[in-house]
Amino acid sequence: MRIYDRTLKCGCMYSSDGGGGLMPCIYLPEEATQEELKACEDAHKEWYKSDDYKQYQEECYENNI
Ligand SMILES: [Zn+2]
Repeated sequence: MRIYDRTLKCGCMYSSDGGGGLMPCIYLPEEATQEELKACEDAHKEWYKSDDYKQYQEECYENNI
């Protein structure tokens, strides 16, 4: 079973198991509002800059050896 151990502010959930996985907060982008899309984008930008993202990448690597 995949464990989604990270949740971004927008609601996207990431797993470092099995090469990394994503459960998106928006399933149908064409039905999402601009605000929702923007919130998701911002949450990712913030995460990519954080130390937690580096940690996540390391975990993805370690979990796949
Ligand atoms: Zn999101």
